[in-house]
Amino acid sequence: MELIDGNKIAAGIIAELKAEVGALRGRRPCLALIRVGEDPASVSYVRKKEAVAAEIGIEGRVILPPVAIGQDALGAIVDQLNADPSVDGILVQAPLPPHLDERAVFLRLAPEKDVDGLHPMNLGKVGQDDDSGFTPCTPGGIMELLARSGVDLKGRHVVVIGRSLLVGKPFSLLALQKRAGANATVTVCHSATAGIAAIARQADVLVAALGRPEFVTADMVKPGAVVIDVGINRVADPSRKSGYRLVGDVAFASVAPVAAKITPVPGGVGPMTVVMLMRNTVRAFRRRQT
Ligand code: NAP
Repeated sequence: MELIDGNKIAAGIIAELKAEVGALRGRRPCLALIRVGEDPASVSYVRKKEAVAAEIGIEGRVILPPVAIGQDALGAIVDQLNADPSVDGILVQAPLPPHLDERAVFLRLAPEKDVDGLHPMNLGKVGQDDDSGFTPCTPGGIMELLARSGVDLKGRHVVVIGRSLLVGKPFSLLALQKRAGANATVTVCHSATAGIAAIARQADVLVAALGRPEFVTADMVKPGAVVIDVGINRVADPSRKSGYRLVGDVAFASVAPVAAKITPVPGGVGPMTVVMLMRNTVRAFRRRQT
């Protein structure tokens, strides 16, 4: 079994981006990060994104509207950033508080600044095999992890568990694209799928993105399969100071001996999501220069 080290692969991409940004003349790329409310996971994600941006030389501009902000006022902030020539990329950290309509906010983003790739224009381009938009960060990060680990999806059976707009659905479309590294045969499972274990066992590459701790067990994995664990779940652990630990959607200890390659949690897909956001920001900057 080979561990796919997301931290190491992400560090390589950070170094590439740092060199690219370091060679730029004039202003630096700028990423606006909007966080509404104090959801602890969102606080830590935005902090991490800010730190990685700074490491690369990207200007991170954090905007913290009051938690009670209304839809129109939040929309006005997005409009302002859309119109600001010094801003290249805009990220709206999800989840937003329940009184706000997340999709309406994504729709308001200028597609050419939507570096998270969640605007329908960018998601639509993924379905059209058109790379002139922005690939959503987590699915794009998984494709990059596979490519840099020597896994070519061509002709392989990829089974994806989860069909969210954030991960499962766009990843399925990326794996299906008619291009180098992709060209997979894709099966997508969800909560209404019957016989998931038998379907999962057919996978050459199994992607678990359902948000259920240790859902994928060894009996669901074909020996020699590549296993990508997208899940990040907090489970109670009184032995830890924090009172919890992070586990994926895959029962790592039992699945690892069966798999040819596997991502750990943490340290697999997670670090890739952040660096893909940075890569999209640098791309947005470059596209706006031309
Ligand atoms: P989500 O929006 O909750 O979607 C979960 C998907 O899994 C849905 O399509 C759901 O089916 C399906 N599902 C749920 N329970 C299932 C079951 N028992 N059997 C089969 N399918 C099931 O979650 P998400 O945003 O895609 O995130 C999934 C996981 O990835 C979470 O743990 C999240 O924290 C993690 N995540 C990690 C990163 C990263 O950077 N590593 C980024 C994003 C998300 P239905 O559509 O039928 O409801």
